[in-house]
Amino acid sequence: MMARKMRDTTQWTIMDALNWTADYFRKNGIPTPRLDAEVLLSEVLSVDRITLYTHFDQPLTEEERARYRALIKRRIGGEPVSYIRGKKEFWSLTFHVDRRVLIPRPETETVVEVVKKRLEEKGPASPRALADMGCGSGALALAISTFVNARAYLVDIDPGALAVSAINCRRNAENGSFFLVCADLFSAFRPDRIFDLIVSNPPYVRRGDLAGLPAGIRDFEPVRALDGGDDGLKVLRRLIEACPAYLSSGGLFATEIAPDQDEAVIALMNRTGAFHDICLDRDLSGHPRVVSAWRN
Ligand code: GLN
Repeated sequence: MMARKMRDTTQWTIMDALNWTADYFRKNGIPTPRLDAEVLLSEVLSVDRITLYTHFDQPLTEEERARYRALIKRRIGGEPVSYIRGKKEFWSLTFHVDRRVLIPRPETETVVEVVKKRLEEKGPASPRALADMGCGSGALALAISTFVNARAYLVDIDPGALAVSAINCRRNAENGSFFLVCADLFSAFRPDRIFDLIVSNPPYVRRGDLAGLPAGIRDFEPVRALDGGDDGLKVLRRLIEACPAYLSSGGLFATEIAPDQDEAVIALMNRTGAFHDICLDRDLSGHPRVVSAWRN
């Protein structure tokens, strides 16, 4: 009887590839080895993760293995999975991401939730014009456009970030119309330009803390989207001071903050004398994350 042929690596199945890669990731200190192995292989095969499980015995072609190896190499080099895949889910939409923009974070969905909640409490009048200041991938404006039908202005100082926003507007625009503006905060707008909703996830990390960020963030994400100057409030301060002039009476302002910036940000908003009902909301991990208020 013929000896059962040993399975050599030319017959690698999906299961073999996942087991080997998860193990390799684990040995190299990747925090979620199995998940990353699965997500990257689904990317190579253009299938969802469940399909991997229902096709465990399917052999990989040499070409698929070569593409998988290339992605594994990038992950071992510390690159975040979202950049390797070129996409990230946010508010049930899929955003194109690359190194020109910050990867949308789950905690930023809290900004969207707060906006939705406060607009609903206010009643039927929907904002006609909204501004996303420092839009990056466009995640905030586009998520909000799933429930607000408005003219949305996506503003970023970085042309590369706006190019990514443009891709995402084409893919994800639901309601309303979208305008991309390359500018430092409100500098491109005429003084009579008025918005009913201004949202932002500005750079707010203290400059001195940048070097201590996790390597995936520090070495790959755009520092301009993170660097909030010496006290982390450099952009937030300018944004809050400029906002009252561009926000309609009864308009809503909502911004993401770092968990230890709540008091400082609320003080900055009080100092303008232009806001009422200033609220602090926490993200799903319980950290103070969003400050919002109505324009008087
Ligand atoms: N939350 C980001 C981080 O993980 C910072 C985002 C920002 O500065 N807006 O570091």
